[in-house]
Amino acid sequence: MKVIGVIGSGQMGSGIAQVCATAGFELWLYDIAHEPLQKAHKNIETSLEKLAAKGKLTGTEVKEAMTRLNITSKLEDLKACHFCIEAATEKESLKKKIFKELDALVEPETVLATNTSSIPISQLGAATKRPDKVIGMHFMNPVPLMALVEIIRGEKTSDETHRKTLELAKKLGKTPVTVKDSPGFVVNRILAPMLNEAVWALHEGLATKEDIDAAMKTGCNFPMGPLALADFVGLDTCLFILEVMHKGLKEDKFKPCPLLKRYVEEGRLGRKTGEGFYKYIA
Ligand code: NAD
Repeated sequence: MKVIGVIGSGQMGSGIAQVCATAGFELWLYDIAHEPLQKAHKNIETSLEKLAAKGKLTGTEVKEAMTRLNITSKLEDLKACHFCIEAATEKESLKKKIFKELDALVEPETVLATNTSSIPISQLGAATKRPDKVIGMHFMNPVPLMALVEIIRGEKTSDETHRKTLELAKKLGKTPVTVKDSPGFVVNRILAPMLNEAVWALHEGLATKEDIDAAMKTGCNFPMGPLALADFVGLDTCLFILEVMHKGLKEDKFKPCPLLKRYVEEGRLGRKTGEGFYKYIA
């Protein structure tokens, strides 16, 4: 396996592309929009240069990784990819459409992995004619720094696809953990209701946003408060995850707080738009 395709060049797609290019793979990063592609290219270069400044990569390694990184807004450029990782917006209909198009484009043995945070893999696999080669590969944010990758087998995922995916995760320097195909998997099953509860605490006026975050940082030894973390993840992504879990698991504890919905409706999506619970300077 030499060539990897990444679909979606937002914060996760660009991070996945970075670790793949650094690990020696030729990489094709695709997005429908041109602007996020340009931004991703710049961010990856800056991130690699920072790693070089810290002595974690040499100047030559940075140059070589950048040479292996190709950006494109033409899906056909991913035709020769041996392994594809989808990291587009968290929307089931969109991911199914992308998988259908990839299924018709790439070689029959190519694995189609998805970085979905919550959508069942079997449902995405059913949109293709190769459900045995569809698997979840859920990276954590920020991808270059976080070691965990949840590996999720759909009902029809083959042992061979599972083996190839574990092998790739290890080549990328990650720690894979295989989990069951259930909405939210393990990390978001636990994390998303906690973030939602922090939004409820703010909504009900239990404390200010700063005090809610300070309470969880100092009281639970969290490196980041839950509201700051929700901004980091993206409030739209948090909302999508909760909606999928609420629908899929049919439990009111996953019902998104109205304040979260309101912020998303207003376009306050967190760090990526410059404002969520907090304001960010670009
Ligand atoms: P993002 O909003 O930063 O990026 C999404 C990208 O998808 C955008 O660049 C958008 O232009 C692109 N896109 C939309 N439609 C597309 C299409 N049809 N074809 C190709 N690209 C398309 O989102 P993100 O935070 O990078 O999340 C991406 C995925 O990763 C989601 O499934 C999300 O649930 C998952 N995820 C997110 C996090 C997180 O902390 N943000 C963590 C783990 C997994």
